[in-house]
Amino acid sequence: MYAQVIVDIAHSQVDRVFEYSCPEDTRVGCRVKAPFGGRIIEGFVIGLSQTPSFAAEKIKPITEVYDEAPALVPECFALMEKLAARYRVPKAAALRLFLPTEMRLGKVNESFVKRIKLTGGEPSLSKSAKRQAEAYAYLSKEGDCEYVPLTKKFGSGAVNALVEKGAAEVYKVKRNRTPQYADRAEGQKVLTAAQVDAVNYIENSSRRVNLIHGVTGSGKTEIYLKIIADKLAEGKTAIFLVPEISLTPQMLSQLRARFGGQAAIMHSGLSAGERFDEWWRLRSGEAKIAIGARSAIFAPLENLGAIIIDEEHDSSYNSEAAPRYSTVEIAKMRAEYNGCKLVLGSATPSVESYIEASEGRYGLVTLTERINGRPLPEIIIADMRRELKRGNPSNLSRPLREELEATLSSGNQAIIFINRRGYSQTVICTDCGYVAKCENCDVSLTYHSEENCLKCHYCGAKYRMLTACPDCGGARLRYSGTGTQRVCAELAQLFPSARLIRMDNDTVAGKDGHYKILRQFAEKKADILVGTQMIAKGHDFPAVTLVGILDADMSLHFSDYRSGERTFQLITQVAGRSGRAGDKGKVVLQSYSPENYILRYAINYDYAGFFENEVKMRKAALYPPYSLICRVMVVAEKDGEAIEALKNVYFAIEEIRQKDAGEFIFFNKMHSPIKRIQNKVRYQVLARLRSQRHLARIYEVAAACATSNVLVYVEENPANLS
Ligand code: ADP
Ligand code: ZN
Repeated sequence: MYAQVIVDIAHSQVDRVFEYSCPEDTRVGCRVKAPFGGRIIEGFVIGLSQTPSFAAEKIKPITEVYDEAPALVPECFALMEKLAARYRVPKAAALRLFLPTEMRLGKVNESFVKRIKLTGGEPSLSKSAKRQAEAYAYLSKEGDCEYVPLTKKFGSGAVNALVEKGAAEVYKVKRNRTPQYADRAEGQKVLTAAQVDAVNYIENSSRRVNLIHGVTGSGKTEIYLKIIADKLAEGKTAIFLVPEISLTPQMLSQLRARFGGQAAIMHSGLSAGERFDEWWRLRSGEAKIAIGARSAIFAPLENLGAIIIDEEHDSSYNSEAAPRYSTVEIAKMRAEYNGCKLVLGSATPSVESYIEASEGRYGLVTLTERINGRPLPEIIIADMRRELKRGNPSNLSRPLREELEATLSSGNQAIIFINRRGYSQTVICTDCGYVAKCENCDVSLTYHSEENCLKCHYCGAKYRMLTACPDCGGARLRYSGTGTQRVCAELAQLFPSARLIRMDNDTVAGKDGHYKILRQFAEKKADILVGTQMIAKGHDFPAVTLVGILDADMSLHFSDYRSGERTFQLITQVAGRSGRAGDKGKVVLQSYSPENYILRYAINYDYAGFFENEVKMRKAALYPPYSLICRVMVVAEKDGEAIEALKNVYFAIEEIRQKDAGEFIFFNKMHSPIKRIQNKVRYQVLARLRSQRHLARIYEVAAACATSNVLVYVEENPANLS
C-alpha cells in the first residue's frame, strides 16, 4: 500500500504531495512519521493507493503511523486546497488549522489513571500479612478502585503483594480532563412566538446563510440552542462560536445544563491537557457540539448540521496572524461542504453582513423586542465639556454619579465601561512636554498605580515609575488620560461602601480568571463592575440596571472607515447589559462630542438609520465593501532592509497601477501609524482598489519581496490599521 503524504513543514518549496509505502491498516487522515531529507518529520496521510505512482524501489517506507484513529476529518482534505489558495499559504499550513498546536508533534498526550481490581483468584495470604488481608477485604467489598489512594490506605507493599500473587491486577483507564464549571441550573424555557418563528424561518430558509438581527436581550441564545437541539435530534453535530473567551464559560454552563457532556469547549484559556481531551471527545463523536472562539470553526466534527456565529460583527473573528482568515468565510465553506445552515446573530450586524441580507443573499430574521416586552434602557448623554466648565474635572459626570447613587441605594448593580486599562494613559512632563515612551515600541506608556510602574500595552515591557523628567529633570509630571484603575480609585472615594470589582487584562490572570470575576459579580458579591471591552459583550446579569460608558466617542476619532460602525456597535452592546430583568435599565453615555450623528443613532437604537447613512457614505467615498483596502506590511529589525523591501513592493505594485490606473482609488507607501513594535520597524504600502482583480498579483509581489530578515505580508480590509 502507498500513502500520499503532506509533510508538516509550512514552506512553499515542499508544498506538494509526497509518496511513501505504508502498512496495510494505514488510514486516510492519520498522522505519520516519515523520512524526509535526512531526518524524520511528521506528515498527514491525505490519500492511499494500491499501486505506486512511480518506481516502487525509489519509494521509502513510513517510519510510524501515529494515530490509531485518523486525527483529521475527511473534510480537511476537501477544504485544504481551497484554504491554501484563498489565504496564500502552503497546504501544510492549511491542514494545521484543523489541528491545535498541542495535537501536533506529540507535545501533549492522553492522560491515564491507574486502577486496581481483584482477579477472582484466591490469594494465599500468610497470617502475618494483616494489611494484605485488609486490602483484599476492602477490594472485595468496594469492587475496583483507584490504585494510588489504595496504596495510601494500606501501604504500597501490601497492595503490590496482592498484585504479585495474582489476586489483583492494575489497569489503566483514560482520564478525561474535561474542564469543570458550575452549571447554571436553568430550566428549559418555553420559546416565545418570535423565537419559534425565527427557528422555523431559519430551518426552512432556502438561503445557506441566515442573519438574526435581534436587539440585546431579545433571546437569541434560545434560538441558537433550539436549532442545535433539532440538529442533534437528527443525528448531526454543531459548531457554536462566541467572540470572547471570557464569555465562553457562561455560555458553556448554559450549554452543559442543556446538553450535558455532548458539549465540548475549545478555547485558549484551558490547559493543554484539557484542550487535547476536549478535542478528542469531539473527534471521537462523544461530544457533538463544539463551542469556542474563532479557532473552534476548525472543530473536528463530521456531519455538521449547523454553524452558529454569535455577535458576528466582532472583530475577533478575523485572524491577525498568518493565515489571515475570516471566520465567516471559513464557516461558509464548511456549511457548503456539509450542506448545512450558517446562522449569524447580532444586535448590531456588520455593515457587510447587513448588505448581504438586505439584498436578499442572506436570509434575515429581525427581533425588535426584548423578552417579555422589557424596554430597552434609556440612554442619557452627559456632556463632558459642560462638566469641565462647571468645574468637575473627574471622570464621573454629575448625571452618572446621581444614577449610581440611586442604583446602589435600590440594591441593584452597575457596570462602568472604559476602553483603557491602567491608571492613566500617559505621563507628560509639563515643563518640556516629554512623554514617557516604550524603548521597544513607538507608543506611550501607561501608568499602573498598583504596581507603581509604567507598562507598554504592545509588548508588555515594564518600567520603573519616573520621579523626574529624564529630559529636563523637571519634577512636574502630569498624568493624562484615564484608565480602569483610576476610575476605580475615584469610585472608591465617592462611594466608600460600594464593593468594586475590576475586569481588565491586569486582573484576569490565570486560566479561570474571567470566569471567577464574572461569577463574583453574578453572585452579587460586588456592586459595581469596572472594565474594558471584556465586559461589553454578551453578559447577562439580571440585577444590572445602570451602565456608564465613560469614553465611547474615543474611537470616533480614529481615522478608520470603520470607526463610526465600531462606536455604534460598542455603545449598543454595552448599553444592552442594562435592565435585562427586574427594574428598568438606564445608560449614561459620557461624551465630548454629544452632537455627533453616530451617537444620535445609538441612543435612539436606530440601526436602520445608522445603516442607511453608513451605506450611503461608503458608496459615495468608495470604502469597503464597495472597494478593497489592501495593506502590504513590511516589518524588519533593520531600517535600511525594511526600506529596501518597501521600495521593491511599492515599485512592483506601481507597475501594475500604471497599466490599470483606474483600478486604484488610493495608492501610497508610508510608515505604519505605529512606527515600531517590539524593536521592529513597520512600513506599509496602502492601496484602495475597486475590485479584487489585482489581488493575486499583490500577494505574489509580497511573497517575492520578503527576505529572511524582512517580513512582508498582505492584509485585506484589516480590522486594525495601527
Ligand atoms: P440576547 O442574546 O438576544 O441578548 P439572551 O438570549 O441573553 O438575549 O436572552 C435575554 C434574557 O431573556 C435571558 O435572561 C434569557 O434567559 C431570557 N429568555 C430568553 N428566552 C426566553 C423565553 N422564551 N422565556 C423566558 N425568558 C427567556
Ligand atoms: Zn513596548
